[in-house]
Amino acid sequence: MKSYYVWTIGCQMNKADSERLESAMGQMGLAATHAPQDADVVVLNSCVVRQNAEDKVVGMMTSLKPFKTENPHKVLALMGCMVGPKTDALEKKYPYVDVFMRPQQYDPLINLLGERMGIDPEGCVGPLVAKPAVATYIPIIHGCDKFCTFCIIPYRRGREVSRSIDELVRETVMLVDRGVKDVTLLGQNVDSYGHDLPGAPDLGDLLAAVNDVSGIERIRFLTSHPNDMSQHIIDAVASLDKVCEHVNLPFQAGDDVVLERMRRGYTNAQYREKIAQIRERVPNVSLATDVIVGFCDETDEQFQQTYDLIRDIRFDKVHLAAYSTREGTIASRQLEDTVPAEVKQARKKAIEDLQETIATEINEQLLDQTLEVLVEDVRRDKAFGRNRNDKLVHIDNGQSRVGEVVSVKIDKTSPWALHGKLAETPVLVGERS
Ligand code: SF4
Repeated sequence: MKSYYVWTIGCQMNKADSERLESAMGQMGLAATHAPQDADVVVLNSCVVRQNAEDKVVGMMTSLKPFKTENPHKVLALMGCMVGPKTDALEKKYPYVDVFMRPQQYDPLINLLGERMGIDPEGCVGPLVAKPAVATYIPIIHGCDKFCTFCIIPYRRGREVSRSIDELVRETVMLVDRGVKDVTLLGQNVDSYGHDLPGAPDLGDLLAAVNDVSGIERIRFLTSHPNDMSQHIIDAVASLDKVCEHVNLPFQAGDDVVLERMRRGYTNAQYREKIAQIRERVPNVSLATDVIVGFCDETDEQFQQTYDLIRDIRFDKVHLAAYSTREGTIASRQLEDTVPAEVKQARKKAIEDLQETIATEINEQLLDQTLEVLVEDVRRDKAFGRNRNDKLVHIDNGQSRVGEVVSVKIDKTSPWALHGKLAETPVLVGERS
């Protein structure tokens, strides 16, 4: 066993899981390779949230069949949300796959590799120990208890399980020692963090504890739920100096009947109220959201409520999806996917156009401004990083400044990113953006 290749699709949780697995394989002496055909171990980390993601995984599995049958000594593993509590059907369909692993369950592969390589893998799976990036993720809570009717996550990732504050602080300290400056605390619903722990600490308490870790510069969190985003969490964003002014608060649909059908647990008015509460306490906050169009029986009028909400709130970013039924969800059993595909696409296009206009206008206001950007890496000869508001900034002359917070004068904007050069005059404290 010498090399591994990990292919990942889907959410940031999947990316964080892959990073952890890669770190463990690195500790066992395997090296990463960029081509699956060259690897001794191939891992596909799957996602089933959307049909097209699942189709891509199936395509990869099928294309890797010859790889495995021609090289039976190599190891092929399927990981992530496609692997449910029972693997019988998958084992039948893909008999050439050696290992099936649910999200965060690395042991079956790690133990198999340990056996084949004649080493004890004990202690290999844990925080990232290889060379992590300047900005990385820390999963703080696994699973979700919400059971929104369209969502498969609670069935695949299980019920909420939080990691302790002590463990997360230790992990942050270790990451700082390895050069990490920016951490995103990750969960399907980070705002419900801690309710299952002794003393029931919440995300605000965790943010305060991580904020005290010396050497960490920026702290972000993802993803929130409107019902669990408490005043204590909002106050933590407002008052802790390293916690960045960015909130991703999915609303999914603007109409109350649709929201009820989705089992989201709030109304349009309550969502607007939550945004007002956040903006009042954190005036320079940037906002992102997740939206589904064309959910079961959604009428034109109901869609209009979604459109109006986006127009009124003016998010910095909208993650948009046209609804498709996921087998195993409550919606797949109780509701009908009645909205025709072309109507879903037209609604999606209307929101894409609206959001492009809004994001263009928001980002244009940053033209000629100087922003504090943490330089994360260099890609195609150009440095890039993010400011505290999670704006992606490409920097002309920042290649040698990876890992530093630099001042960047913005000279070009688009709806999706900013561009600039290192500024002569740094941003003054109090002018952070
Ligand atoms: S909150 Fe709803 S949409 Fe988000 S992971 Fe949980 S069940 Fe899925």
